[in-house]
Amino acid sequence: MVKCCICGKEIEGYGNNPFPISIKEGEKCCDECNDTYILAARLMLIKPGEADRIKKLIEAVREIDKQ
Ligand SMILES: [Zn+2]
Repeated sequence: MVKCCICGKEIEGYGNNPFPISIKEGEKCCDECNDTYILAARLMLIKPGEADRIKKLIEAVREIDKQ
């Protein structure tokens, strides 16, 4: 079972390419994270510096999930 490289949940179906959030080979993300982060990240690639903001956002979400 493949886990989402962003939220860590098990992926149903084929999953999605997590670029540009993750560029590691073989990693996948779930539909939810694809809609939430990946699509936004790809749009923001147009603006330099936005990728760091997205990473911080993901870190923040992970912290909330731990609680
Ligand atoms: Zn996910």
